[in-house]
Amino acid sequence: MTPTIEIHDARDIFTDAPVSLRLEGGRIAWIGAPGTMPDAPPPARRIAAGGRRIAPGFCESHLHLFWGGATLSQLNLLGIEGVQAAAQAIAGFAAANPAVPLLVAYSANYEVLGPGTRPDRHALDRLCPERPLLMIAVDGHGAWANTAALAAAGLMTRVPEVENAEVVLGPDGKPNGELREGAAIALVQRLSTSGGREGLVIAGDEPGTVSPADRAADKATLAAALAACAAHGITTAVNMDGNLYLADLLTEMEAEGALPIRVSTAMRLSPAHDDARIAELIAAATRPAQGKLGFGRIKMFLDGVFDTWTAFRTDDYPGRPGFRSEPLFTPERFNALCIAADARGLQIQVHCVGDAAVRLALDGYAAAQAANGARDARHRIEHIDMLHPDDLARLRDLGVIASMQPVHPPGSSGLPLEPTVSIMGRNRWRDTFPWAALAGAGVPIAFGTDWPTAPLSPFNAIHAALSRAPWAEDVPDQRLPFEAVIEAYTAGGARALFAEEGRGRLAPGMAADLVLLDGDPRALREDAGACRAALTICAGEIVHEAAL
Ligand SMILES: [Zn+2]
Repeated sequence: MTPTIEIHDARDIFTDAPVSLRLEGGRIAWIGAPGTMPDAPPPARRIAAGGRRIAPGFCESHLHLFWGGATLSQLNLLGIEGVQAAAQAIAGFAAANPAVPLLVAYSANYEVLGPGTRPDRHALDRLCPERPLLMIAVDGHGAWANTAALAAAGLMTRVPEVENAEVVLGPDGKPNGELREGAAIALVQRLSTSGGREGLVIAGDEPGTVSPADRAADKATLAAALAACAAHGITTAVNMDGNLYLADLLTEMEAEGALPIRVSTAMRLSPAHDDARIAELIAAATRPAQGKLGFGRIKMFLDGVFDTWTAFRTDDYPGRPGFRSEPLFTPERFNALCIAADARGLQIQVHCVGDAAVRLALDGYAAAQAANGARDARHRIEHIDMLHPDDLARLRDLGVIASMQPVHPPGSSGLPLEPTVSIMGRNRWRDTFPWAALAGAGVPIAFGTDWPTAPLSPFNAIHAALSRAPWAEDVPDQRLPFEAVIEAYTAGGARALFAEEGRGRLAPGMAADLVLLDGDPRALREDAGACRAALTICAGEIVHEAAL
C-alpha cells in the first residue's frame, strides 16, 4: 500500500499560489489552498513545505540510462580546456582508480587540447603514457584512445572493418587514435569495467553470454542512474536506446520493485541490422507496459553531428563545396521501417541534427501515414539542431513532437561556440535550435538533456533554456517563457508519452509524481545553482529526500 502523504504550505511553481496537497494511493487526492483541506484520517507522513515551490515531477525526455549510469564512475571532462587542465584531471582520476583496466573520460570537447587542434593518440600518450585511456567526445559520436588502449584492443596490429564507423588511420597506416561513431568506439570501450555493454545498448546489439556478476553489476549501474534522476526531481526517464538485454534487466528490476521512478525505453534499430534483427527489436518494442516500466517506441539515427561533419544538411558545409554529408539510412529503407513500426502502433523517434535529416524523417512519417492511415501517432524528432524554414509547418501538420535539449546550443552549459558554429555556417545560425519558432508554429515540445552528453540536472537545463543568448544580433531569440520551459519538462514530456491524462500536472487524480524545490526556480534564469530538488515523490512514494 502506498502511504498517504500530506504536503502543507507549498507554492505552485506556475502561479506561485500557496497550495497544500493530499496524496493517496499514488495519486493526488486533493489539492487546494492551505487550511482548506477536508478532514481525513491522519497521513503516514505530513510534510511542512515552508513555502517551497512544488512542481510536477520532471520528465527527462531524452537520456541514455545505461551509458549515463556507467559515466557515474568515469571522468567528466565537461568544461576542461587545454593540455594542462586535461593532464591534471586525468592524472587525478588515474590515481583514484588504480585498478580499472581502461581509464574512461567523457564529455571532452573536440578541441579540448587547444583551440584549432584535435586530439590524437600521441597527444593522449603525453597525457597518459602507460595506462589505457579512452576519451569520449561530448556528443558521444567520437572518441580518442591512447596507444596503450589501442594496443590492448589489438588495433595496433589489425584494424577490423566497422560499419557506419571509422578507426581513423594516421600517415603511418596505424590508428591515429580517433574513433568515429559507436561501432569504432566499442572496439576499445569493451575493455572497460562495464565490458562496454553500455555501447551495445546504444547500438541496439546484444552482448554475448553475461555472467551473473556482470548482470548484477549492470543492474546496479541502472539503479545508480535512476537514483541520480530521482535526486534531480526527475520522475520519468525516457531512455533512448535499448536492446533485448536492457529490456530484460529493466523488466526484472520492475518485478523486484527496484525502479524508483518511471522508465520508458525505446529499442534501437540500426542500419547494420538485418531484417530478422529489425523484426526482433520491433517485437520487443511492443512489450506491454508493466508498473513503472514502459516500451512502445523505437529509435533510429538518420545522421551524426556537426562537429564531425556527419550532420546531413540541405546546403553545402562551409568551405566544402558539394558536401552535405549523407543519411545513415536510404530513404527507401527508412520509409519502409517507419511504415512497419507505425503499423504495429509504435512511436518512432529519430535522431536528426541536420536539416536534411529532419526532412527525411518527415518524409518517413508522411509515408507511414499514407500507408497506414492517419492516427495520433506522436512520432518524434530528436535534437533538430538545424531546421529548414520550409519544414516548420510539416512538423505541425504531421503531429510530430520536437524533442529538444536546451543544453545543446553551443555557448550553453559549458559548450564552446567553436568549432560547431563555424561548421554550421554563419548564414544558417538563424535556423538552429528553433525552440520559439517550433512552439510558435504549434509543434509540441518535450525537453531533456541527452545525459550523459550533458549534465543530467533539469535545473542546469532550465537555466540554459532561459539564459540562451543569440550568437549574433540578426539571429532570432529562441528562448521560451519560464512557464513554457517548465511545461516542456513536465506536461510536454507526459504528452510525448501519451500520458498527459495521468501525469505532468498538479491536479486531483493526477499521479503523485512531484518535486518540492529548494530555491526560486525563476532565479534559474540568472543562476544554474538557484534551485535544487529537496524532495522527489514518484507514484506517491518518496524516492529522494534532502534535508527539509
Ligand atoms: Zn541522445
